[in-house]
Amino acid sequence: ETHATSSDCIFCAIATGTMDADIVKENDRIIAFRDINPQAEMHVLVIPRAHHGDVVQLAKAAPETLAELVTFADEIASELADGQFRFIFNSGPQAGQSVFHVHGHVLGGQRLGWTPA
Ligand code: 5GP
Ligand code: ZN
Repeated sequence: ETHATSSDCIFCAIATGTMDADIVKENDRIIAFRDINPQAEMHVLVIPRAHHGDVVQLAKAAPETLAELVTFADEIASELADGQFRFIFNSGPQAGQSVFHVHGHVLGGQRLGWTPA
């Protein structure tokens, strides 16, 4: 579902400043912060401030914001690493989604393996 904010969503809390995060980049629509359990030398989460449950809901409701998440990922990878990155959206619990406010994982700063299962 899509709302401006959701009261029991931790990423809405980060987006509104209610919960602390190590913010690396932000603007009026998007905020990017370091993952608390990093899986690579660079592991940043990029989210829209508005609450959308997953990447498909975001794509349908605000495709321009999804596109802007991609350019954010590119800029973060250039600022924090060598400009190369992997950009992952887990969609659904079986795919590994545990927070139901859409977030892209920006991974890089090292050579990455490929072991999705
Ligand atoms: P998912 O499993 O939904 O694709 O990714 C959720 C990510 O959010 C995980 O990588 C997890 O480490 C991260 N995470 C969960 N809670 C917090 C938090 O409170 N702060 C930050 N910075 N990251 C969080
Ligand atoms: Zn939210």
